[in-house]
Amino acid sequence: MIKAIVVNPPVYDFTLYDFWLKPYGALRVYNFLKSSGKVDVSFFDFLDRYSPYVDSYGFRFKDEFGKGKFIGVEVEKPQILSFVRRKFKRFGIPLEYYVRLIKGFKPEFVLIYTGMTYWYPGVKEVIEATRNILANEVKIITGGVLSTLLPEFVKELGADNVISGEAFNPLSEIFDIKYRSDMAILPSWSLYGYLPYIVIRLTEGCPFRCPYCASYLLKPVFRILDIERVLREVERWTEKGVKNVAFYDDALLVRKKDAFIPFLEKVIERGIKANFHTPNALHARFIDMDTAILMKRAGFKTIYLGFETSDESKQRELGGKVYTNEFDRAVGNLLKAGFERKNITAYIFMGLPEMSIDEVENALYHVNSLGIKAMLSEYSPIPGTPLGDRTIKEYNIDDLLLTNCSVFPLISMGYEAVQYLKHLKNRLNASVNE
Ligand code: SF4
Repeated sequence: MIKAIVVNPPVYDFTLYDFWLKPYGALRVYNFLKSSGKVDVSFFDFLDRYSPYVDSYGFRFKDEFGKGKFIGVEVEKPQILSFVRRKFKRFGIPLEYYVRLIKGFKPEFVLIYTGMTYWYPGVKEVIEATRNILANEVKIITGGVLSTLLPEFVKELGADNVISGEAFNPLSEIFDIKYRSDMAILPSWSLYGYLPYIVIRLTEGCPFRCPYCASYLLKPVFRILDIERVLREVERWTEKGVKNVAFYDDALLVRKKDAFIPFLEKVIERGIKANFHTPNALHARFIDMDTAILMKRAGFKTIYLGFETSDESKQRELGGKVYTNEFDRAVGNLLKAGFERKNITAYIFMGLPEMSIDEVENALYHVNSLGIKAMLSEYSPIPGTPLGDRTIKEYNIDDLLLTNCSVFPLISMGYEAVQYLKHLKNRLNASVNE
């Protein structure tokens, strides 16, 4: 049997929060290879906060919904980031445990999941460690966000085969496994010893084309997945004691009558007990009263809404997916349906090119006037997106590390402005109760 290992690399960043953060794609790839019966496949998630290789309590801390902070180890800051007044860290299980595993297992294929483009140092670390141990005896394959957006860049990091876009067709050829696009390949949650939450998707892609977003580059076609399969998955894991379920959909409420509403109705009908969360911004426009009531009855706990800005012309420029009156109506519906104010959060942009302090301030005050919380979406220019490419050119960005969302707003707005807006956000959020 062919031997392969699927790897989720460590992350180098200033901060990292387990905001229902799981390598969804990598877990599906594992399942695809495993269920073929042709591949002896192993899995190593550097970011598993409950791994037996981790003994620090801080690493494992979780809140009532399963989220928590990763504890990182400070590392030398790359020269290009020297102007950032924060510690640079490595987050993830120490490399020695991975090295020990591949020395014993000797995989012929290492499949590395690549996430955020500015997280490339973690990918580089795994590629280099793998080559050091297995030299050219191993084929290194990468897939995921970075590989899709910048395949040539990942090739230069040392990968043999970079999968840009959908992974199952190329993998079916490499491993000689049958694949049909209508096959429901779910993530292998059983790989985790302890699981405080699972993540699911009812849809793939998004029909909108916001100029800063890479959704359509990653999934060019919006489609609805097999809802019944997802329901069975949720049933299975909640019966095993998993309490939290987070949606990874980009456009959960688009065509809601075909996916989201039937899903909610079946959750209620079958008595599935879970706390549902929506970490990706929901389209506030589609939250009418009936939808809000159904979400509440089905067990939704935390709601994250895309607001971005209160400036109408900017709202239009950023894709026109929500205007202030629609946003206000959605918040009103959620509150009337019984959601707690402290569990409704609006995402507000900070650090877009030419964005003024006033604009962010206005949005923060507006959200606060509705009695809900705000979270700052610190802008990261994503290569390949219209706004990302324009920004990268305008600001002469020559290293992806500078596109980090903790870094770029410092360049576009300045340190003092960013600090001021973060403090303002915290102060306003502190006034939100229940
Ligand atoms: S609506 Fe959301 S997911 Fe869709 S393109 Fe805009 S930002 Fe991306």
